[in-house]
Amino acid sequence: MEEAPPPLPPLPPIGGGVTTLDGSTPGPSVAMAAAGMPALRRIWDDHYCKKCMVDGVDGWECLRCGMKHKPVHHTRACAHFAKMPNEGVKVCTAEIPNVEFRRYLDLWQQIKSKKGGSIKTKLSISETKEYHLDTAVEQLMETKKKRTKISTELQEYYDVVGSSKSTYLPSGQPAIDTAFENMKQQDLNQMNQARMDVSIATFFHENNLSDSAAESPAFAMMIKNARLVGSDYKCPPRKAIGGSLLDLNYKNCQERNKKTLLAEADTFGLSWLSDGATISRMPLINILGLCANHPPTCVKIHDCTGHMTEGNKKDASYIAGLMEDVVLQYDPDKSRTTLFWFDGASNVQKAGRILEAKFPRAYSLHGGEHVVSLFFSDVSKLLPIKASISLIFLTIYVTTHI
Ligand SMILES: [Zn+2]
Repeated sequence: MEEAPPPLPPLPPIGGGVTTLDGSTPGPSVAMAAAGMPALRRIWDDHYCKKCMVDGVDGWECLRCGMKHKPVHHTRACAHFAKMPNEGVKVCTAEIPNVEFRRYLDLWQQIKSKKGGSIKTKLSISETKEYHLDTAVEQLMETKKKRTKISTELQEYYDVVGSSKSTYLPSGQPAIDTAFENMKQQDLNQMNQARMDVSIATFFHENNLSDSAAESPAFAMMIKNARLVGSDYKCPPRKAIGGSLLDLNYKNCQERNKKTLLAEADTFGLSWLSDGATISRMPLINILGLCANHPPTCVKIHDCTGHMTEGNKKDASYIAGLMEDVVLQYDPDKSRTTLFWFDGASNVQKAGRILEAKFPRAYSLHGGEHVVSLFFSDVSKLLPIKASISLIFLTIYVTTHI
């Protein structure tokens, strides 16, 4: 019969049994330093936690038990080493020496106390905001002179007599109480509208949003739908806004653009326009599709970072291959594509010639993109045109400031 394994020795007290000069137990960092190991600030600082690729995505590996996890998630990684169950990750199955295990526990406690602190801070911030909202609404109501004297009088009246059950007189006329009730309701509506105005303005100001966004159709749509949901509605978390919902909007937009771009493509053909730009050290190439009845539509912005870090260049064959992959999604039998527009750079000129060979019904206009923009730049410098533009700007200024 197999013997049961001996129980693990109990954890030493925090401080590993070390005492300070005044007899108290030292904090974890002092204890770890005493044990020759500095306290962990991040789990990635531990030699047993190694970041690596797991199934093609960024993940991490526990070198103690050999488990691999994805994606990179600091709290879960810490829970694994501190052997905390029900934290969305399997706990470490390896036996960890007590002194080292204590470091994981300390780090775990730090993370938990930080998260608790941030929740308290959020609550405190929302309370402060409510207070500021109330004071701002009062000022707004006074400014608009919408806070009529009747409101206070009504309140006093209701405090004394309470609300009446008789809402209508036998003649069909509303009773005096009903009339007061209606006025009170109107007063409340004005107050709620003022609260909404201040809330929207605060949201715009605190998040540095453009004032003009208040006139965007998307904002109007948001307010319209906000009226339809109940008090149990919760705003999607930021991860969903920047993750699944972003993907959904992207896919939806791509499909809609494709549909409208191809609507008359059989009749008028398709033109493609592409250019490269490096933005914030990110080498990008954009591709736009054009049709006679449709304005230029961005169909792809390709990040070439991976290609460049492998030591490759944005040469003609690379650009032509990239364009071909995209264009074939819109024109699989190569019958609709008639024109490729590029600028004057030598690599894209060559790419244009490659594409002319691959798409027999198409030809390439190198430099066309720049020529058009330079043409209009020159036109705008002609005196009559320049004067007309100044007049237009002056008219816009006057009409918007009077
Ligand atoms: Zn492990």
